[in-house]
Amino acid sequence: MAERSVADAIRDAAERLAATSDTARLDAEVLMAHVLGTDRSALLLRHMREAAPAAFASLVERRAVCEPVAYITGRQEFFGLPFIVGADVLIPRGDSETLVEAALAARPRARSVLDCGTGSGALLLAVLANLPEAHGVGIDVSAGALATASANARALGLEGRAAMVCADWHLPGWDESLGGPFDLVLANPPYVEDHAVLDTSVHAFEPAGALFSGPEGLDDYRVLVPQLPRLLAPGGLALVEIGHRQADAVCAIGTACGLSPQLHHDLARRARVIAFS
Ligand code: GLN
Repeated sequence: MAERSVADAIRDAAERLAATSDTARLDAEVLMAHVLGTDRSALLLRHMREAAPAAFASLVERRAVCEPVAYITGRQEFFGLPFIVGADVLIPRGDSETLVEAALAARPRARSVLDCGTGSGALLLAVLANLPEAHGVGIDVSAGALATASANARALGLEGRAAMVCADWHLPGWDESLGGPFDLVLANPPYVEDHAVLDTSVHAFEPAGALFSGPEGLDDYRVLVPQLPRLLAPGGLALVEIGHRQADAVCAIGTACGLSPQLHHDLARRARVIAFS
């Protein structure tokens, strides 16, 4: 079989993906880099080995039916760190970096961190990577998520400071053996309205249990936020990610149980995180 140039194959794949992806060219480059075991910048200097066209084509077909690039490659960068991701966990979003930044800025000397609904472990591990004296616990109800979070803790060399534990904030006594209270409590709980219309790439591929939370997307906040006063050490801070129209409702849940809310905005200037103290 004649060798095609990598550039030609990327161009064809970008055309194939244009119908279903807003980032067709970028997706094609990331998938090609993945199949060749290289990075995007080195791509155009390379030529495909004979086996690569079929492998590349099968990745492009997965993307063409809206599977997220991060699940296809099994990787997603978050806060400058490489994370392993798979279908058991939500893909870490750039918007959630707002929460990590707010945590590090507000409590640079925090020693203990709890991450509620840790998923891939992205929030907890990004915080711990930047707080060398701190240790933390990530909890989740999903065994698959905990396996991914543990793999990320090991891959980042943080397994000695990060424990990943199965727990459910709906159950009495769920936090009794976690070693709290904590200087920082982080949470990106499910907060999407049950009947929200999501992109196919989210709806068909990301775990529903990490996304949906009742008719207004508020069910998990209603259970978790009232428990924050118990989970927080004196002077501690909780940072909760919210959907962009949920700020008033979630602030109200917090003030009703004696917490003081402060809003943080994402790069698109939408309210994205509430800090409760
Ligand atoms: N931000 C996610 C989305 O884009 C939702 C994350 C969540 O529910 N925690 O759908």
